[in-house]
Amino acid sequence: MPVVYVSHGSPMVAVERDGYTEALRRMGETLTAPTAVVVISAHWESAAPVRVGSSERPSLIYDFGGFPPELYDLKYPAPGSPGIAKDIVQRLVAAGIPAVEDSQRGLDHGAWVPLRQIYPDAKVPVVEVTLPMPRTPAQLLAIGKALAPLRDQGVLIVGSGGIVHNLRRVVFADKNAPVEPWAKSFDDWVRARLEDKDVAALVDYRKRAPEAAASVPTTEHFDPLFVALGASGEEFEVKDVFEGFHHGNLSMRTVIISASQK
Ligand code: ZN
Repeated sequence: MPVVYVSHGSPMVAVERDGYTEALRRMGETLTAPTAVVVISAHWESAAPVRVGSSERPSLIYDFGGFPPELYDLKYPAPGSPGIAKDIVQRLVAAGIPAVEDSQRGLDHGAWVPLRQIYPDAKVPVVEVTLPMPRTPAQLLAIGKALAPLRDQGVLIVGSGGIVHNLRRVVFADKNAPVEPWAKSFDDWVRARLEDKDVAALVDYRKRAPEAAASVPTTEHFDPLFVALGASGEEFEVKDVFEGFHHGNLSMRTVIISASQK
């Protein structure tokens, strides 16, 4: 299985139909059907140990405020997978990363909003893994590496966040606001480094990338990319699922990272 990094944008994506949601839907139809989806979401961080959602029937968490009531009625009744959760905990612990199961946690909107578009029938089991706090890109690469063997079992690993995500600068009033150059320059830089497979440059993005401070004011939306890259190994190819912005500077860049064909 490949690995996916999805920029999940605003929770409104859950009820919208546009080029982005169409692209997610097409991706779900095109990818080999996974046995399960493992999501590392910007919206679940935990102090050590790493927590792995092991509920058989994860509830939905409506972890956003001020949106239309219809958003709080949406359902995504995907099953969990206690078996895969246990397997993940064992793999992380074996890699020297403290981890525990969490049978209480449901799915946050970083998981269920994009998954409702990618796998609308909600049949594929979903397991979430936390972003540890504090964390470094190197630790996140190590988590991804520990998860990588799951790909051979048909598991799709999804990092869910956003390449440019600065809520102070988002143009909330206009989804189609003109793209702001600072956001585009960072987003383009990330795409180019992915093309180059230059993980070292990506790890050092705060020093090397243009507009890094504005684009990644806090790291939780960018960081799932490192878990995805850790799960990808060193030889990979990147396919664009969607590139573009909502609200002027909210990057919706979504990519499939697959094994290199050579
Ligand atoms: Zn988010």
